[in-house]
Amino acid sequence: MVVLIGPGGVGKGTVARRLVELDSHLWLSRSWTTRSRRPNEDGTEYYFVDRATFERAIDDDRFLEWAEFHGHLYGTPQPDAPAGDDVLLEIEVQGAEQVRKANPDAVVILVLPPSMRQLEERLRARGDSEEHVALRLSSTPQELAKGHELASYVVVNDDVERASDEILSILEGLRQQRRDPL
Ligand code: 5GP
Repeated sequence: MVVLIGPGGVGKGTVARRLVELDSHLWLSRSWTTRSRRPNEDGTEYYFVDRATFERAIDDDRFLEWAEFHGHLYGTPQPDAPAGDDVLLEIEVQGAEQVRKANPDAVVILVLPPSMRQLEERLRARGDSEEHVALRLSSTPQELAKGHELASYVVVNDDVERASDEILSILEGLRQQRRDPL
């Protein structure tokens, strides 16, 4: 299991989608969320559900992990990946902490922006309100601190292709170790 974490706006969703395009043995989990769809989203990014539906799924133990982030619930359904595929999650740090506890072998990769200024610009470019951008930036220092604590690898997303290639090389190295532990 591979877990991508990083502050909102860093582009980890784009990197995750690129990774599964490049690597046919990586299976990207689709999360549930109670937040509403953004204007620039096509609806495939999440299963968008209401809070009551999400809470029922928690009670029914349907999540591998879930967390509340800036007033909305986000959760990873129990993975249903084809046999032999590695599971890729793109989640925030509280969820990554739960995954790590349940599965100490999970590989956590922290994706960083080239600079804080770029992060701010990317959040604005998504069409979020100024208020929302300020809220998201306010939690970035804690997300980064926790992220560094959890992550085994740190990758700077200065360019989606370059960052994706770097992550694929990390995964290739880990798969090699798994095949040939000595
Ligand atoms: P956004 O609302 O910007 O799409 O996502 C907000 C944050 O929630 C991002 O850091 C994203 O990675 C994270 N997130 C997305 N899906 C999940 C999930 O299933 N579980 C958890 N814990 N976080 C998630």
